[in-house]
Amino acid sequence: MTQAHEVDVVVLGLGPGGESLAAELAGSGLDVVGVDRRLVGGECPYYGCIPTKMMVRASEIAARGRAGSGATAAEARRSWADVARRISEEATTGWDDRAAVDRLEASGARFARGHGRLVGPRTVEVEGTTYRARRGVVLNTGTEPTAPPIDGLDATPYWTNRDAVRAEELPESLVVLGGGAIGAELAQVFARFGVRVTVVENAPRILAVEEPEAGDLVGDVFAREGIEVVTDADTKRVSHDGRHFTLEVNGSRLHADRLLVSTGRRANLADVGLDSVGLDPSARFLEVDEHMRAQDGLWAIGDITGKGAFTHVSMYQAAVAAADIRGAADRAADYRAVPRVTFTDPEVGAVGMTERQAREAGLRVRVGRTDLAASTRGWIHGAEGFVKLVEDADRGVLVGATSAGPAGGEVLSMLVTAVHAEVPTERLRTMMYAYPTFHRAVESALTDLGRPVED
Ligand SMILES: Cc1cc2nc3c(=O)[nH]c(=O)nc-3n(C[C@H](O)[C@H](O)[C@H](O)COP(=O)(O)OP(=O)(O)OC[C@H]3O[C@@H](n4cnc5c(N)ncnc54)[C@H](O)[C@@H]3O)c2cc1C
Repeated sequence: MTQAHEVDVVVLGLGPGGESLAAELAGSGLDVVGVDRRLVGGECPYYGCIPTKMMVRASEIAARGRAGSGATAAEARRSWADVARRISEEATTGWDDRAAVDRLEASGARFARGHGRLVGPRTVEVEGTTYRARRGVVLNTGTEPTAPPIDGLDATPYWTNRDAVRAEELPESLVVLGGGAIGAELAQVFARFGVRVTVVENAPRILAVEEPEAGDLVGDVFAREGIEVVTDADTKRVSHDGRHFTLEVNGSRLHADRLLVSTGRRANLADVGLDSVGLDPSARFLEVDEHMRAQDGLWAIGDITGKGAFTHVSMYQAAVAAADIRGAADRAADYRAVPRVTFTDPEVGAVGMTERQAREAGLRVRVGRTDLAASTRGWIHGAEGFVKLVEDADRGVLVGATSAGPAGGEVLSMLVTAVHAEVPTERLRTMMYAYPTFHRAVESALTDLGRPVED
């Protein structure tokens, strides 16, 4: 017999946004139940942002160490054991969420472990227990890694990001299928630890959603670091003979000890009972309004909304939804200035539209660019990178920008402010930029932006 409980809010799926929203609402006195079938906190702390950035940091140190010491690839691979230990012990506590559950419960929320699904308006069932939510349900069910429909692939023991962050030993060779942000970050990490890496990318360049200059820059660095990149790739077949993978790509065969698939993710919407509330369970993303409402009594936040698969989007949306649920002052979500950072070396920070997106949106576009090497700090550091600005020339404001180079994601912050607050580019030209910093390149890019618009 199912048990039924009356509560104020059910948060179904506790990714970063769901976890913070549940705690915030419980802290404000609401009766909240948070539900997760796996780990409280979701992908980011256990399999995404945190362990991968720990790997990136370790690989930067390893690359510097190797350059000076002449260590062999085999020695570099062996040194991975320290990174694996740090990820397990410090980042993820052995992939155990006890601390997160304790934190959630300390906020006053209740926690239910198990697969939850909607069984009607404002009603969720978790492993035989029914929760009826007076205010409503928040969905934050996130994504799972997916693999493309390549002949033979499903039958092989390929890695996803979840296996890659748990690797205790490194293979001698690795093919990374998919050269987006996740694939590029992990490719460089493993290569810097002595793994022979090949990246296979369908598009003409890696980091295909970013400015083409970014993909070209990182592609050049990869080539120098010995990472082979196959672009315009048509992968026909994948097989595994018990020890090695073979990929048939563009008429040639690639062999590797391991295969990492990083070609995309699927929103967890098929099995959350959307049909019970009249919504389409086969939808790619869940449509929400600017208050994160999917319908009366149902909110959605995080990757499933399709507004940017980033922890900061999930947390931002959580705050918007929480305000709406509490009936607090009107706070509407605004996605003009979504920042994104690819933590390769050089690091690629970007915000808003690329030049191409701005032109496709019908804007009269002016672009300003500068090379980091032309700046004093860039020259001192021997840095590679650039700043590119995309201006809506009619309004005289930036609608997008990219800062690639050392700490590109940090330089980005002032560009996010400019896009978010629509600071006129004329105004940006009148401020001071500390000397000699990487962000001074923004001033040079603004000077370049002064050129007339090409029609
Ligand atoms: C390798 C990698 C690196 C990344 N690096 C970064 C980065 O550097 N910066 C950044 O901003 N983002 C990064 N991301 C993206 C980031 O991890 C996600 O955007 C973030 O986790 C937000 O996701 P979410 O809130 O939608 O939910 P998720 O984190 O996906 O969590 C969803 C939760 O819902 C649970 N769930 C799903 N269905 C059910 C159900 N039916 N019942 C109960 N529970 C359910 C799941 O178990 C999970 O815990 C990275 C992702 C990956 C894979």
